[in-house]
Amino acid sequence: MLFTGEHAKLDMNRNPFPVGSWLYNQRGNPLCSWYPFRGILWKIRSDLDYQNKELYLPAHGSAKPCAWCPCTTGTHLPLDDFRENAEWHGHVYDNMAFLASLTKINPLFLVTGVLNYCLAADWMHVKHMGIDQYYAASVIWLLVFILLPGRTEI
Ligand SMILES: [Zn+2]
Repeated sequence: MLFTGEHAKLDMNRNPFPVGSWLYNQRGNPLCSWYPFRGILWKIRSDLDYQNKELYLPAHGSAKPCAWCPCTTGTHLPLDDFRENAEWHGHVYDNMAFLASLTKINPLFLVTGVLNYCLAADWMHVKHMGIDQYYAASVIWLLVFILLPGRTEI
């Protein structure tokens, strides 16, 4: 009930909370007593190890390490194929294919609106695969065309 700004009235399986529990006593109350906070799940940002152990996503060291497509560490749909026409582009999962690809599903992914697209890449572990080139190029572009055009002094 994050979006409504109220504590849930039922648990994730649509069952009532145990009478007398903290959640039972909070049901329907504002999430915050002093401000009408509301929220949405924007991204699930976490470490690859956490994603595997807690969210049951593919292990980063496995032959099929990806939660977004069936790419592999082998020669079939190789994950390190960064060409514009890489074969894995045509195999990116929709939410149903994502759920079907998992051997175990974390209940988080059964919540309406929580899709595999809510997963943020673990920057610390994927930046070597090409993200840095965009950052570096963006900084150079900013310096050359916006901050220092025509200047000869630094
Ligand atoms: Zn992939």
